[in-house]
Amino acid sequence: MNYELCYCEDLLNDLYEGVYFVDKDRGITFWNRGAERITGFTAGEMLGRFCYDNLLSHVDEHGKQLCFDGCPLHETLRDGKPRASQVYLHHKLGHRVRVDIKIRPLFVDGEVIGATEVFSSAEFTDCSETGLKEMERLALYDQLTQLPNRRYIDTYLENQIRDYQTLGIDFGVLMLDLDLFKDINDTYGHNIGDSVLKMVADTFQGSMRKNDFIGRWGGEEFVAALRGVNQAELETIAKKVCKLVEQSSLKRAGGDIRVTVSIGATMIRPTDNAYTLIHRADSALYTSKREGRNRVTVL
Ligand code: GH3
Ligand code: MG
Ligand code: MG
Repeated sequence: MNYELCYCEDLLNDLYEGVYFVDKDRGITFWNRGAERITGFTAGEMLGRFCYDNLLSHVDEHGKQLCFDGCPLHETLRDGKPRASQVYLHHKLGHRVRVDIKIRPLFVDGEVIGATEVFSSAEFTDCSETGLKEMERLALYDQLTQLPNRRYIDTYLENQIRDYQTLGIDFGVLMLDLDLFKDINDTYGHNIGDSVLKMVADTFQGSMRKNDFIGRWGGEEFVAALRGVNQAELETIAKKVCKLVEQSSLKRAGGDIRVTVSIGATMIRPTDNAYTLIHRADSALYTSKREGRNRVTVL
C-alpha cells in the first residue's frame, strides 16, 4: 500500500474546492471529490482525459470559449506563471457555474512538469494562497518524510539522463531499502515504524551534500541521485550513508530503536533509460540483501 498517496488523496478529497492536476500535455492525472461536486463529472469520467477535450467548456463572462484560445492552464504550462481568473464552467447537467480558478505550475529542476488548478464556486470559500502552496507540496513531496515523492523522482531522473546525454554530466544513483523493517512494525507498531522512517529520512538528508537528491520511492525504499560523481565517490558516499544510518536511532523511554539500510549503487551508462538504471541499482540492492544486509553493492 502506498501510505503517502492515501493520506494525500484523503486530504484533497476533504476540501470543498475542486482540485485537479494536469501533466505537461494537459492530461488530467487527479480529480478530487470537490471537483466532482462542483462539475458533476466524476473522477472516472475525467482521469486520463485532456483539459482540451473541453468537457467543462470554460467560457468567460462574454461567453468566449477559453479552451482553444486563452486557456489559462495552457498558458501556465507554457510560461510557468501562476494565474487566477473567473470563468463559467459547464456542469454535467448542462447549467453554467461561476468559479474562481487559481492555477499554479509544478516545477522540477526549473522545468514545468504540470500544473494544479483549484476552483471554487461562489457558494464556497475562496481558495487561499496558502491552500495553493499546500497543493503544490502535496503533489511533489511525501507527507511523512517531506522528501520528494515518486512523481518528483521520476522527473528528476529523466532530467539527469537528458543532461548526461546532451551535456555529458555524469551521475550515479543509489537504491536504499531499510533492513527487516517489517520486524520494526511488528515489534513496535505502525506509528513507531513511521517515526523510524522519518528519523532515517532525516539522516539521509542530513548526511548528503546540498546538491544531492534523495526521495522516497515508496514504502521503506528511497532513491538518491548524485550529480557529477565518479564510481569511487558514489561508493564512498553510499558507505557513509549506510554507516550513518547504523549509528542513528529513534530515542524512546523504553530503549532506542535502531535500523540499518542496504544500498545498491550504479553509475549512469550510455545506453541507459530510467528503467534500466533503476533496475540495475535494484539488482545491486538485492545483492546487498542476499549477502547479509547493512552494506553497499556497486554494479
Ligand atoms: P528486507 O530487509 O528484506 O527489506 O526486509 P523488510 O522487512 O524491510 O522487507 P519487506 O518488503 O518484507 O517489508 C517492508 C515493510 O515496510 C512492510 C511494510 O509494512 C513496511 N512499510 C512500508 N511502508 C511503510 C510506512 O509508510 N510506514 C510503516 N510504518 N511501515 C511501512
Ligand atoms: Mg522494500
Ligand atoms: Mg526492507
